[in-house]
Amino acid sequence: MGKRLQQAKAAEQIVQWAWSSLPVANRRLLEAIGASQCQVVSAPLGAVLDDLLCSAGLRGLSVGAIRETDGAFGVWEPRLRVVLIRAEDPRLEGVDGATREECLARVAWHEWGHALSVVRCEAVDVARGRALLEMSPQGIRERIRLAGYPVGQYTHEIVAETYALLMLRRVRGGDGQPTWLNNEIYRLLIEITDWTD
Ligand SMILES: [Zn+2]
Repeated sequence: MGKRLQQAKAAEQIVQWAWSSLPVANRRLLEAIGASQCQVVSAPLGAVLDDLLCSAGLRGLSVGAIRETDGAFGVWEPRLRVVLIRAEDPRLEGVDGATREECLARVAWHEWGHALSVVRCEAVDVARGRALLEMSPQGIRERIRLAGYPVGQYTHEIVAETYALLMLRRVRGGDGQPTWLNNEIYRLLIEITDWTD
């Protein structure tokens, strides 16, 4: 088997594992909102998504959106009810196997958390993005600032990143509210994702 094919297969297995590690209630919710299908692809995501949309007879992405999505590790497309994950992101080049696995699983958890946030957050939660960002763990705060997301995306990014971190903690045997997580964000996460320990 060629290296690329091997990497793609390994990535698919990781994403499968990431899915089966989710709490059962979360998997049901994701199935209900159409975010349970996950495809691992090798090309940049903007181009792939644009192709998929056009071949489904839907409106494709703008040039700007293609460029922006090309830079992403993962994306959820509600119109196609699919999460796409890029197995061969250049940022994973030369990274060791364990780091690569963790990174791919985190991307998958992030996208599922993101989908739940988009569907289930109230406008008032979205409007509180800036305040929530201040309460977020430092790593999340910096990542969101660096990525330059518009303020309207803050809440979704916070929920998605926190969800991915809680999943990482869960598969390592951790439970309950972590000391590093602000009460308000934890409560929001429970409300949005039906998170249970
Ligand atoms: Zn996101």
